[in-house]
Amino acid sequence: MGAGLAFATLAAAGVWLGLALFGHGPGLEGTRVGAAARFAAGGWVPAAERVLSGAVGPGRARAACDGRLPLAQLLYLGLFSGCYAAAGAVGDQLLAESGAPADAALRAAFPLLVLAALFSNLWASFADPGTVTRENVARSLAAYTPDGMLFPLKPAHCASCDLPKPARSKHCATCNRCVSRFDHHCSWIDNCVGERNIGSFISFLALNALLCAAGAAACARLVWGDLADRGLLGARFQYAGGPAFTLGESPAALAEFCLGRYPALAGVGLFLGFCGLLVGAFLLYHLRLALRNQTTNEYYKCAAATPFRRRGPAANLRAALCPPPAPAPAPPT
Ligand SMILES: [Zn+2]
Ligand SMILES: [Zn+2]
Repeated sequence: MGAGLAFATLAAAGVWLGLALFGHGPGLEGTRVGAAARFAAGGWVPAAERVLSGAVGPGRARAACDGRLPLAQLLYLGLFSGCYAAAGAVGDQLLAESGAPADAALRAAFPLLVLAALFSNLWASFADPGTVTRENVARSLAAYTPDGMLFPLKPAHCASCDLPKPARSKHCATCNRCVSRFDHHCSWIDNCVGERNIGSFISFLALNALLCAAGAAACARLVWGDLADRGLLGARFQYAGGPAFTLGESPAALAEFCLGRYPALAGVGLFLGFCGLLVGAFLLYHLRLALRNQTTNEYYKCAAATPFRRRGPAANLRAALCPPPAPAPAPPT
């Protein structure tokens, strides 16, 4: 019962993450999957804010949080990094008893990866994504030539910022600002992803995919090691009335046995493996966009149109990941 509940919780969390990362395809706009994906990706944040405002009062909630609550980022920083740290501490103790070189490498890599993943979250979060201001709007207008299809040749005007909108920029309704080469607003870093922080955002995805893979590998190594030590891999099992088999011959029976015998290790390992695949796939999606010099915003406008491609994927990648020099501060008047 405990293992079943843990597995159902992990499966629900995996479905949530899968919807948040991949439920936004252009064909899914207006469908129930698209609506569920919008809720999973960030729609739950204002809903949770409303609940909190109801509990502590809107005035106090606004005063405490300046009108915005970075709930997804707090969830990442608190819950996820707490899970990583707890899994690392348990794994560290068990792996220390082994002495095998691969286990020693996992032990050394895990805390470094946790710190690097936390740092990458904060780096992407506090970096300026490329806010369009009165001082730098001329540079953005010159740097991004409109294509006349996705972005009009005569730049539109942003009424909220009272500034012209450079090609490839977008006004973020959450942050209330225009961002140069706008990609999307990410609740996990509580920041827009744009011209100046797309590199740190991709590092954030890569480090978390690696961390999930390392965590899943550590769990699998510990479960597999214990099964081997006890000679359970070669032992013969038999369901009532069924044929005899060994765990090595039946992946389904092996998964069922591991979830029953090691519910925490096997459950966390499966969850981390699943999250690693999802985050890894999301990383590949962003790398593909970078190789085409296309943003998520442009992909949703028209997936097939890539008017900003340069000569060769390497030039595209460089253009996407290497922001132009930061604008010089305005001279004193
Ligand atoms: Zn604006
Ligand atoms: Zn934003």
